[in-house]
Amino acid sequence: MKVKLLRHTTDPELLCGAAALTSTKIGRPSEILENIDSETAKRIIKRVTGYEHVSVIEHASFTFSIEGVSRTMTHQLVRHRVASYTQQSQRYVTYDTPEKYVTPPSITKNTRVKEIFDDALEKISETYQKLLKAGIPKEDARFILPNAAKTNIIVTMNARELQHFCNLRCCARAQWEIREVATEMLKQAKKAAPALFENAGPACILRGYCAEGKMKPPECNIEELRKRFRNL
Ligand SMILES: Cc1cc2nc3c(=O)[nH]c(=O)nc-3n(C[C@H](O)[C@H](O)[C@H](O)COP(=O)(O)OP(=O)(O)OC[C@H]3O[C@@H](n4cnc5c(N)ncnc54)[C@H](O)[C@@H]3O)c2cc1C
Repeated sequence: MKVKLLRHTTDPELLCGAAALTSTKIGRPSEILENIDSETAKRIIKRVTGYEHVSVIEHASFTFSIEGVSRTMTHQLVRHRVASYTQQSQRYVTYDTPEKYVTPPSITKNTRVKEIFDDALEKISETYQKLLKAGIPKEDARFILPNAAKTNIIVTMNARELQHFCNLRCCARAQWEIREVATEMLKQAKKAAPALFENAGPACILRGYCAEGKMKPPECNIEELRKRFRNL
């Protein structure tokens, strides 16, 4: 799996800070942006998002390339509707690369189980190739492909949506692959705009308690998570 922040809005914090000041200053947004400094922008972002005036951070966008992940992961990712996606198409791309599938760690660490998994995937690959050879178009041959099939996707989220996505998907209750992707996205976004993502991470670290009830993983510790995500 590889996650790479490809592009983001130029000076995301200055822009969001200027947007926030636009609501209270008499000056034009263009002038405010020209004159705002980094410390003021950070201070304003913290203040206004603190009282839920969060639309100001929608002006900053972040585009990631997410490579070599499973279709299981991307199926969950695209449920986040306030984002833009472009995914490698199984209608046009043939599944014939040597590294076609993602293997979950729970399977990798068990040699006997991994053999069962690999055998099944090998059979699927053979059947897929047979279908193509029989003249079945890729868009139909792909019906045999599993959730483990590797894919690439490009995603753009604004800072508000990225925070929300991390609230849900950096949580220990999220599935391991999307949790790894979300944590890496946050790490890279935080480097580009630390003030925008200062308190980002699983929702519990801001909320102060876990909302998962009986589903809360026993190993979860909010203080440890808070420290980990602060220092990401
Ligand atoms: C641990 C976990 C387990 C899950 N299990 C399942 C499952 O078993 N089955 C399943 O189907 N899904 C499951 N999901 C997916 C979940 O139900 C959401 O579809 C997904 O997390 C996207 O969240 P969202 O709607 O908040 O995000 P987004 O789609 O990104 O939306 C962001 C926010 O915009 C607002 N919004 C967006 N669209 C609308 C709308 N149409 N109406 C009103 N407000 C809107 C909401 O405030 C929303 O929170 C799971 C998610 C998690 C994190």
